[in-house]
Amino acid sequence: MSIAVAIDGPAASGKGTISKAVATHFGFAHLDTGLLYRAVGARVLDGMDAVEAATSLDFTDLDRDDLRTGPVAQAASKVAAIPEVRAALVDFQRAFARRAGGAVLDGRDIGTVICPDAEVKLYVTASDEIRAQRRYLELSSKGHDVTPESVLEDLRERDRRDSERATAPLKPADDAVLLDTTDLSIEDAIAKAAEAIRAHL
Ligand code: C5P
Repeated sequence: MSIAVAIDGPAASGKGTISKAVATHFGFAHLDTGLLYRAVGARVLDGMDAVEAATSLDFTDLDRDDLRTGPVAQAASKVAAIPEVRAALVDFQRAFARRAGGAVLDGRDIGTVICPDAEVKLYVTASDEIRAQRRYLELSSKGHDVTPESVLEDLRERDRRDSERATAPLKPADDAVLLDTTDLSIEDAIAKAAEAIRAHL
């Protein structure tokens, strides 16, 4: 059986947590596609050309332990606006989406570009303030030197860049189910996503 679940949305909307949980629940494989762009961004910060970094990406690069930092997030959203970088990452993501046993991919363009024929599409959002609060708690608990204000500014800058780029901008697919997690507990958000998937099984 091949079933693809596309979960898109802005940074810190809850899509990563929801994706991991529903993948575990249904026994599907999970790919956090943001990590691909983060790995390319990290290589660019190391001094490599962006397109070369994407075309020669080795999937062990996804194990780097610096991928969750603020500077790497910003570098990721800059390289993600380069069409050749995106093109270099398409085949891997499409093959992952169609692997046997089902797959959940989360990102920005999964339902619109990578997998427009996904059986289930969700677009997860939350208010800027709630997203910033969640990301601040996550980063500060890991010892990162951040303030709530700097995290909010970082998210808004990335959202702006991700939404305004010409190639594969952040936007919901026309047939995506919208899930606003602003006032939802994580358990309720996961339950709603699982319900949307179950309806397609
Ligand atoms: O999801 P995450 O915050 O890890 O993504 C980092 C950056 O990678 C995003 O800001 C976005 O620019 C880019 N990205 C993308 N397309 C995806 C996933 C991530 O452009 N499918």
